[in-house]
Amino acid sequence: MSAQLIDGKALAAEVKAEAAAETEHLKAQGVHPCLAVILVGEDPASQVYVRGKVNDCKACGIESREYRLPADTTQSDLLALVGELAADRAVHGILVQLPLPAQIDEKAVINAIPPEKDVDGFSPVNVGLMQIGEECYLPCTPAGCIRMIQSTGTDISGKHAVVIGRSNIVGKPAALLLLAENATVTVCHSRTKNLKHLCANADILVAAVGREGFVTGDMVKPGAVVIDVGINRGADGKLHGDVNFAEAAEKAAFITPVPGGVGPMTRAMLMKNTTCAAARQNGITL
Ligand code: NAD
Repeated sequence: MSAQLIDGKALAAEVKAEAAAETEHLKAQGVHPCLAVILVGEDPASQVYVRGKVNDCKACGIESREYRLPADTTQSDLLALVGELAADRAVHGILVQLPLPAQIDEKAVINAIPPEKDVDGFSPVNVGLMQIGEECYLPCTPAGCIRMIQSTGTDISGKHAVVIGRSNIVGKPAALLLLAENATVTVCHSRTKNLKHLCANADILVAAVGREGFVTGDMVKPGAVVIDVGINRGADGKLHGDVNFAEAAEKAAFITPVPGGVGPMTRAMLMKNTTCAAARQNGITL
C-alpha cells in the first residue's frame, strides 16, 4: 500500500473535542445543548446507530433524549411527538432515525422538523439553503467527507471531483459541497456511461454506491484522494466499503478505511450540528 490512511476515528475525536468545547462555552452561558433522537421499531442497525449517537452526546457533554417507539407507531403519533419536541425550547436538535416503518411517510416526518432543529440537514429548507450557499445545517455524511479531504491538506479548488451515487443524503449533497469548495464535479450514477474512465480521471473520488468493492484499482487515478462512504455487510459478516481497498490503496495518495473512516466522522459532525443549533437558537456565536 502506498496511500496514506485518512483516520476517521482520530479525526472524529478531534471534531468531537471541538463539540465538547462548544458545549462548555454554551453551558457557561446557561444553554445546555440537547438532542432528541427518535427510533421507531427494532431494526438492529438503527439500534446500533442510535446507541452510538447517544454515547457521542454523552462524550461531548450534550444532553440526549431517547424516544423508542414500537414498530406499529402511527404516523400521527410520530408527528405528535415531533411537534412536542419542536415546541420544546430545551430541545435544540431533533433526529428521526431512518428508515421508518412502511406505514409512515418519511417526507412528512422530515418536513415536520423545524429547519432550525433539523440537525440531520435533510429538510427541504436546509437542502435549499445549502444549494444557494447560505447558513444551514449540512448533512453529516457529506460534511464529514469534505472535512476528511481537507484534513489531507489537499486544496479542493480546481480539482476534478467524481462522486459515484446521487442519493439525497449522500451523493447529491457531496457533489454540492465539493462544488462549493470550487471543485469541478462529475456525478456518476447507475445510468452513467463510461463510469470507469470518468473515475480514473478523478483527483478526488467519493464512492457512495452501496456495493462492496465497486471501485477497483483501475478506476483510481494515481495520487487521488479516495473517500469510501459505502457500508456493506459482506459474505464474511464484516463491514466493507464500496472501494476495493487493497487495489485502490496502491494507486491513491490518501484513502479512507471501512470501518473507521466516514462512519465515525458522520457521527461527529452530528455533534457539531447540535452545538451549532443550540448556539443559533440562543443567539450565541461559537
Ligand atoms: P442509495 O442506494 O440511496 O444510493 C446509491 C446510489 O448509487 C444511487 O444514486 C445509484 O444511482 C448509484 N448506483 C447504484 N448502482 C450503481 C452502479 N452500478 N453504477 C453507478 N452508480 C450506481 O444509497 P446511499 O444512501 O446514498 O448510501 C450509499 C452507501 O453509503 C451505502 O452503502 C450506505 O450504507 C452508505 N452510507 C454510509 C454512511 C456513513 O456514515 N458512512 C451514511 C450514509 C450512507
